[in-house]
Amino acid sequence: MIKSFFMPLAIIAILVSGCTVKIDEVNTDTNRDDQRPSKQIDTSVYEANNESNVYQPVSSEESTAKDEPNPNLNDKVRDDQIYIQPIILVPADRENFSDSEQESMEERLNLFMKIAQERYLELLGSTFILNAPETFKSTLTSETFNNLDGEGQDYAHRVAAALLGWRETTRDESNEVYVVIYARPLNKPCGVAYNLRCYGGARPLNGTIKPGPGIVLLESRSLMDDNQPFLSTLVHELGHAFGLTHVNCHGRDLYTDSSLMSYNKSHHSKGFEWGENKSGDLGAEEYYILSLNKRVFPKFEYDRSIHNPTGRELVNITACYIPPMLKNIDYTIPLTPGKGYELFHNSKMVAGKDAANYTREQAQSNCKWNVETYNRVKAIRCSYNGEMFREVILSLTDKSLEVSP
Ligand SMILES: [Zn+2]
Repeated sequence: MIKSFFMPLAIIAILVSGCTVKIDEVNTDTNRDDQRPSKQIDTSVYEANNESNVYQPVSSEESTAKDEPNPNLNDKVRDDQIYIQPIILVPADRENFSDSEQESMEERLNLFMKIAQERYLELLGSTFILNAPETFKSTLTSETFNNLDGEGQDYAHRVAAALLGWRETTRDESNEVYVVIYARPLNKPCGVAYNLRCYGGARPLNGTIKPGPGIVLLESRSLMDDNQPFLSTLVHELGHAFGLTHVNCHGRDLYTDSSLMSYNKSHHSKGFEWGENKSGDLGAEEYYILSLNKRVFPKFEYDRSIHNPTGRELVNITACYIPPMLKNIDYTIPLTPGKGYELFHNSKMVAGKDAANYTREQAQSNCKWNVETYNRVKAIRCSYNGEMFREVILSLTDKSLEVSP
């Protein structure tokens, strides 16, 4: 009985350890400083959510008047095509999160996503595949997401790890860009006044060099507030998740450029109302880099005559690639609401269904066997009834995995 899921485990373990080796390539985690001028590589990820900008609300009649998008938008072209997956993330300490609240967040996010999808269609002539929103009620608290533990982690890495665990996938196997709306506990607000950073930003999990899965992270407060430029922020952050940096990395002006990858304030939306120029267009460099991201935009081809009509030289293409996220998104294991025995190899739950009926002793014995047998898997965690009882993380003692600044 206990050994019944050992065979599939062996295969999984090999796949996982085989894949994760490759991630080491460009491991510069240029964390939060968004506007660092001296760095050529601007990871542009942790952006403040334009809190200081106040707008007049628009009426809800105007805001929801939207044609149904073309059903062909979601036609899949390749087997490894990426899906854009909107997610409401509810930490365990968000109290009284009601069904109607969930529904209204999902609905509103879905509308914004469809508008963003159409905007990319207008700009590129083809667009990404969009899934319906889902809600992830995590067993992790906001403290866990906030906590910086000295291993180069931060909220974005923790959220990414939690999501990969929830989706039972890894950064290499994921075929999704997660658009995460964080439903922060109402009694624990973020912002300068509270000395707590609001979540905002986006990046590809494995860097621009290996485009595919990615993460966008924004706050539910800005999703639900018609005074916030959520829509323009969303199209901008999606650009990051697809592998784009800010325009200044390509030698263009960050505050006046017409691109949606600028900080041009005239682009700011209000609720469902676009900012100027539909919150920005794309420059030649952005078109070119998006054309490389075949898993998200398989039909989009860069055409010099259309996307760079003046024929100027493209600036800093590879120098502006966003580096991969840190390795710890592979082995930070979220504890899913556990029943019985759960076994994780890296971010992946690998125990079979029968493990839910294990006794604690059986779980301990199986865990021990796994730790001894799969000693090349970076992280093995074992939990019983939702409580972790054993954790072995190879990477923390393996100097070759440390991040260089
Ligand atoms: Zn940005």
